[in-house]
Amino acid sequence: MLKIGCHLSCAKGFAAMSKDAHSIGANTFQFFTRNPRGGSAKAWQDADLSAFADFARAFGQSHFLAHAPYTLNACAARENVREFAYLTLEDDLKRLERLGGCLYNFHPGSHVGQGVDAGIEKIAQTLCAMPLADLHSTVLLETMAGKGSEIGGSFEQLRAIIDQVPANEKLGVCLDTCHAWDAGYDIAGDLDGVLEQFDRIIGLDRLKAVHLNDSMNPLGSRKDRHARLGEGQIGLDALVRVVNHPRLHALPFYLETPNDTLAGYGAEIALIQSRYDPPQPHCGSAHPKEHA
Ligand code: FE
Ligand code: FE
Ligand code: ZN
Repeated sequence: MLKIGCHLSCAKGFAAMSKDAHSIGANTFQFFTRNPRGGSAKAWQDADLSAFADFARAFGQSHFLAHAPYTLNACAARENVREFAYLTLEDDLKRLERLGGCLYNFHPGSHVGQGVDAGIEKIAQTLCAMPLADLHSTVLLETMAGKGSEIGGSFEQLRAIIDQVPANEKLGVCLDTCHAWDAGYDIAGDLDGVLEQFDRIIGLDRLKAVHLNDSMNPLGSRKDRHARLGEGQIGLDALVRVVNHPRLHALPFYLETPNDTLAGYGAEIALIQSRYDPPQPHCGSAHPKEHA
């Protein structure tokens, strides 16, 4: 079964997100843990969380993806910015235990002139300070477009971060199709080749989620401007191949496309559902036609 949802506003709480997701045919969703451009977090209410658990069970929802705020930069040059990243990651991961753990996605960061190696080292240091082994969440590094001094625009950089965290069993990767394309990975022309690279450099066992977005810009543009599915340069057919790929089809997919209304996401989800046709599991017996 296809696991698909979109980014939802957390303004009205978890039970409301669950109902919103269900209303547009989504069986999962992504949400911000706090104000994406600020940092303050509203208290989560017990009653809301228990209503959410009931809805999620009734609606068959799972694989919730929490997204860290954009302002979090674990490799900032300024120590107070790194301190904010540390405190936010720590607090988010602690909160997510109340949901029994989640997928938790963050942008690795921008090295702002310190250089890639220094940036990678600081990100890894921040992760090393998290009690990863005690958590029920899986922490995901997002593949980035590589704009400016962004870390995470290549698979090698993500691998280097993971390698520098000794207790890295709870670390994974979220592949953003717009970002990967903008970073120069040709998922439209050579999806198999890109996934082979991912597997060789990072390992496909680390891939836990996909942000399914089209891109407004051409391959390798390093821009990071999302488009609705089929309205960008990656194109609908290529994104359908992503969803149906034998190595990807069982992963959860999240839309982060520019939609003003829930109905807009609903239409995109319905479109992908209508094209979902992954390879059938191999049953080991002879093909039925051979018995005819
Ligand atoms: Fe993101
Ligand atoms: Fe993304
Ligand atoms: Zn983006």
